[in-house]
Amino acid sequence: MTSSFSNLSLAEPLARAVAEMGYETMTPIQEQAIPVVLAGQDVMGAAQTGTGKTAAFSLPLLQRMLKHENSSTSPARHPVRALVLLPTRELADQVAQQVKLYAKHTQLRSAVVFGGIDMKPQTLELKKGVEVLVATPGRLLDHIEAKNAVLNQVEYVVLDEADRMLDIGFLPDLQRILSFLPKQRTTLLFSATFSPEIKRLAGSYLQNPVTIEVARPNETASTVEQHFYSVSDDDKRRALKQILKQRGLKQAFVFVNSKLGCARLARSLEREGLNTTALHGDKSQDERLKALAAFKAGEVDLLVATDVAARGLDIKDVPAVFNFDIPFNAEDYVHRIGRTGRAGASGLAVSFASGGNDVRLVADIEKLIKKKIELEPIEFEEDRPRGRINDGRRHWRDEGEAGDARDVLDQPRERSEARPVRSGRPHRAPATPRDPFFEQPYETPEREAAPAWEAAAKTTPSRGISSNIKSKRKVPALFKTAAQPN
Ligand code: AMP
Repeated sequence: MTSSFSNLSLAEPLARAVAEMGYETMTPIQEQAIPVVLAGQDVMGAAQTGTGKTAAFSLPLLQRMLKHENSSTSPARHPVRALVLLPTRELADQVAQQVKLYAKHTQLRSAVVFGGIDMKPQTLELKKGVEVLVATPGRLLDHIEAKNAVLNQVEYVVLDEADRMLDIGFLPDLQRILSFLPKQRTTLLFSATFSPEIKRLAGSYLQNPVTIEVARPNETASTVEQHFYSVSDDDKRRALKQILKQRGLKQAFVFVNSKLGCARLARSLEREGLNTTALHGDKSQDERLKALAAFKAGEVDLLVATDVAARGLDIKDVPAVFNFDIPFNAEDYVHRIGRTGRAGASGLAVSFASGGNDVRLVADIEKLIKKKIELEPIEFEEDRPRGRINDGRRHWRDEGEAGDARDVLDQPRERSEARPVRSGRPHRAPATPRDPFFEQPYETPEREAAPAWEAAAKTTPSRGISSNIKSKRKVPALFKTAAQPN
């Protein structure tokens, strides 16, 4: 049962912002958490990004702070009243953007501080006074030490993605930050799991919390059309391009299993004229935020990403998700394809299985999503000019693509990015479609006739825009958080 926001008696400026966001009904976490937070109780919530939890804590928090709203220019009239702590800069940035949108018709001020960038602009903003401060723990402590942030009037604190904060080793920082807050406050803790460490944290800092659990969906949305193609590593890029073209897709997310594979694939797609950006752990903070913003603004067509780099990022309602590599962990499959087919929109999820461990990994996915998966052969629109490599011209397949694929699948695991490859008995590689070329004897190419790939190359500029992918489109409707007030 989902209910409408109108049942909540939200203050008019907040209700208006919610309506402008296009939300009609509450998500389960919102339905359960908002009334509890409005009543001033502590919450221990098991919910992940993508469940609507940011609005679940932000809306009631803003509603309760409206009594402090004022238009004074004096910083003293705008002390920090609510603190939201998150483990990563991307998440902090995203949550801060959402808070700004929900608060846009109020006079409440919000700001975000995270590390990796200059402290000065953040300091200036803090000095002017903000009611809602979104932060990562390390940078917040820097600001506390520099006396830019004073937390003795905080009434609400949200520990978001608490399990990840503990994983990263933020516990001492969190303990220090919490020691600066008044004892009398409302504390909300969100975590994907309630591990013993999380329960200990909650035991120390929450008072009689109401526990709310929203299960992570292991079932994939019925609005997502899922295909698994049996494609050799060499043919994956070609398959990707063909499906983009056949389906008239404007944007897609392409998942790979390693940082190295990610950078290489993005580079080679870019070389082929597809407007592509890579998102992986080795990118600087600034590069990652820019990549994300460019994709959301429709300036980038393909975002190639590793699971770790993409986890928790608010990129969704993408028309299609490609699993260029089958994820090592079946849960990541659900996570990856959850970025398409949201809110009743139809989405497409295409996975390329190339043999090796993939058959086993696909079987794991089948078990998890409880759906039978058929491995389909892929039929290419035209045959490749395989016999022409002696003519001195380079086909895109000659640019080390097989090497790319090997790097992705056979490289030793990279720290923090790749998941363990399960060992197991050898198995048969899935059947790949037969190429009639190998049935024929080699013939010297007719020099007069232009090779098919050359004709294709004419329609595919080496840089910039391909014939089937258009750049510089604005697709804000795809991303509910894309628009941001100044
Ligand atoms: P979150 O889990 O907070 O990261 O939110 C995930 C996405 O869902 C964000 O893009 C929100 O804008 C969107 N969202 C949150 N609540 C709702 C709702 N009630 N209806 C539709 N979309 C929502």
